[in-house]
Amino acid sequence: MGRWWAPGRVNLIGEHTDYNDGYVLPLALPLGTTCTARVRPDGVVRLRSRQAPRDAVDTTTAALDSSGWSGFPVWSRYPLGVIREFQRRGHELPGIDLDLDSTVPIGAGLSSSAALTCSVSIALRDLFAPTVSATDLIDITRTAENVYAGVPTGALDQSAALLCTAGHLLFLDTRTGASEQIPFDLDHFALTLLVVDTGSPHTLVDSEYAARSAECAAAAAALGVPTLRDAPTLPTAARLPDPLLRRRARHVITENARVRQIAEQLRTGADPRTIAPLLTAGHTSLRDDFEVSAPPLDTAVTAALTAGAHGARLTGAGFGGSIIALVDRDRVAEVSAAIREAFSAKAFTPPRTFVVTPAAGAHRVRASTTSPH
Ligand code: ADP
Ligand code: MG
Repeated sequence: MGRWWAPGRVNLIGEHTDYNDGYVLPLALPLGTTCTARVRPDGVVRLRSRQAPRDAVDTTTAALDSSGWSGFPVWSRYPLGVIREFQRRGHELPGIDLDLDSTVPIGAGLSSSAALTCSVSIALRDLFAPTVSATDLIDITRTAENVYAGVPTGALDQSAALLCTAGHLLFLDTRTGASEQIPFDLDHFALTLLVVDTGSPHTLVDSEYAARSAECAAAAAALGVPTLRDAPTLPTAARLPDPLLRRRARHVITENARVRQIAEQLRTGADPRTIAPLLTAGHTSLRDDFEVSAPPLDTAVTAALTAGAHGARLTGAGFGGSIIALVDRDRVAEVSAAIREAFSAKAFTPPRTFVVTPAAGAHRVRASTTSPH
């Protein structure tokens, strides 16, 4: 019996680069998913989520081996996929009760799905498979999302939830898995990172995500490289005859360069205000070249910049969800109010704004041998 916790994330920069073998720079949110787990000896698997109260699941470890997955509610395929992947890798699970509860807004581009799978994965590791490595956990949780939930993500969200540390950005090379913790102390510079959940659902995201992934693969093939990570210069992309593939490639190539440049500047302790124009350039690239923005995201970015934010961009896959803005500490109220006013003027759903500092990655909350129930 015990409790485990994994965070949601925002990505400071490096969007749609992870499935192109590129670079990302996320931080963990202080919002996360708590997984309370109790081992049981009878082969039964019971799943409960406070966010899906009508969709409880009672099944067995043996049933996960069969083809009966269509009967499971969609949300449960994330944790069941994690359990199944532990089984497939040869780890015996006698049975388990999992109770889940999350403070990450669901479907807001802040990665509630990885918070869910990663909290379950570290519970299973600690209870049944202590030798499973962080790399294995990233693979297990990504497979749960890709194969069992059917969402074709890269490894950004799972890596962020599992590897981020408090007070730091995670600079991750998604090709090699090499990572570096970069201190990100905004308070020292009288700055804040403002997150704006626009409340607009990212409904198109699955089909458009698959389309972008295919377009990037086609652009890489046309350039004769394995992935767009291997086409490092803009003049290379300019050789592409198809204007759409040229734009897609240009986003990935310039985005990878922005991630590396920001990591470089912050590593040397530069004032984060100096990276702000790169954040805004990242948004422009996502809007115009990668075409994954949406009116509420553009409205929030423009309103934030007009009200004095140093830089702002959509975060997550786009089509809805959230933006981030780098704002002077003493201007947060003003910038938030300006965004709310801009939303009200366009009759958008009122946004939710909050400031974040980089929180810890996935960890056990407390161990207990007695049941609180
Ligand atoms: P995001 O990860 O940006 O929040 P996704 O569409 O990737 O958005 O994942 C959201 C899905 O993850 C939900 O529709 C649900 O199926 C599942 N999910 C996430 N957190 C929970 C939770 N606490 N309880 C139940 N399902 C959850
Ligand atoms: Mg997700």
